[in-house]
Amino acid sequence: MDPDSSSFTILGAGRSGIAAAALLKKNGFKVFLSEEFPEERLKYFRKDILADGKIEFETGGHSDKIFENDIFIVSPGISPESEVIKKATALGKKIYSEIEIAFRFCKCPVIAITGTNGKTTTAVLTGEIFKNAGYDTKVCGNVGVAFSEIVSELKKDSIVVLEVSSFQLEYTEKFKPEVSVILNITPDHIDWHKSFKNYLNAKGKIRENQMQTDLSVINFDDRILKEDLKNTNADKAYFSINEDFREQEIMKGCISVDGKVIYFDKNKNVNEVIMKTSEINIRGNHNLYNSLAAVISARAFNIKNELIRDTLISFKGVEHRIEYVRELNGVKYYNDSKATNIDSMLVALETFDKNVILILGGREKGNDYSAVDKLISKKVKLVIAIGETSKKITDYFSGKVRCASALTMEDAVRISFENADAGDTVLLSPACKSFDMFDNYEHRGAEYKKFVNKL
Ligand code: ADP
Repeated sequence: MDPDSSSFTILGAGRSGIAAAALLKKNGFKVFLSEEFPEERLKYFRKDILADGKIEFETGGHSDKIFENDIFIVSPGISPESEVIKKATALGKKIYSEIEIAFRFCKCPVIAITGTNGKTTTAVLTGEIFKNAGYDTKVCGNVGVAFSEIVSELKKDSIVVLEVSSFQLEYTEKFKPEVSVILNITPDHIDWHKSFKNYLNAKGKIRENQMQTDLSVINFDDRILKEDLKNTNADKAYFSINEDFREQEIMKGCISVDGKVIYFDKNKNVNEVIMKTSEINIRGNHNLYNSLAAVISARAFNIKNELIRDTLISFKGVEHRIEYVRELNGVKYYNDSKATNIDSMLVALETFDKNVILILGGREKGNDYSAVDKLISKKVKLVIAIGETSKKITDYFSGKVRCASALTMEDAVRISFENADAGDTVLLSPACKSFDMFDNYEHRGAEYKKFVNKL
């Protein structure tokens, strides 16, 4: 990018938009930031950063001034079908996401992680392994800090572990990570991408520019990923918890078989046991997938098996994702507030055997509880319904499983405590959004933990 010929309009004053504006301005580019909503409605509005950088901006709507610049950087919240994007496209403007811009300034290798579920967990875990191996490691993207916020601090031998969504990938052009990971793909965000094929293609962009010296890591057990994605020149590695594919034509991978995590690379004559599967601290098959993906990224940088093993033994997972809270009177309490849809709640339930007291509910649009009927009847001894959807839940489950409803989180925790016997698990995995009662899922999880810790 040439500061004299490129000018930027940044749409959206979220964390990544503000960071991209500051990064570009610092590097001598002409920048204009425009935000649809008024300041008071923005969760993260840093007027100080904009003022310090002498960055021009507007809030409360987009004026025609946005069309004076050549390149648009769009926040993931803005739909490709929105009027501004349609008009910008018609005017021949280039449209990028923030990661494309940050990437152009990045001096070090990038490990980019995408997938419908598990991105944050895998990114944080991968980051931990690299930190423990002594790398100057930055975990960024959808997790906490934006890529643009930290890219100027990186040295050649740093490592970026980047969590990327399909929205951000959609608007990339030259983005090329050294290692790309696609964890899984299930129909999600179809409203934004319009079709499953578009969604798959957007995910596939993570590896489109990769070269033979780069590595594309794919979930072998995900049929769609394995069979429908063809678009890369990168070296490939696969992971599986179902199939020992070492006898097949696959050259490199990580599998969990016979209770062991095994990494192999036929070109290097490597076939090594990293650890026992049971030693991995984070629970559930989904987390086993996340762990295998992290192992492959670590091995791509020749990190030693012992170090990988130590990290997987000590890693406690990420807050609000089947997070262990405490044990009281033989009852274990878990916080899975991040489960905002039925799929995530199913994943959580799969990790427990039985005798679960499940706190379920919140705000939802058309959850189909019949999809979880069997599992809930098998594993759950009491459903405690909360939030806007609580009546729908109690109506649906009554007669199938014991139900109660609670008006507040404090109430829900109290009811769970009163009904729990030693050996039971109390699980907050609401399968719904939180906005009816809380600011966001983090707030919901924090409240739950507060009341659990008060018991
Ligand atoms: P993301 O960042 O993609 O939203 P997280 O790591 O935050 O993913 O996990 C969110 C939820 O998704 C978890 O609470 C769990 O229920 C589910 N999940 C995590 N990893 C996986 C996986 N590999 N496959 C399926 N579901 C998963």
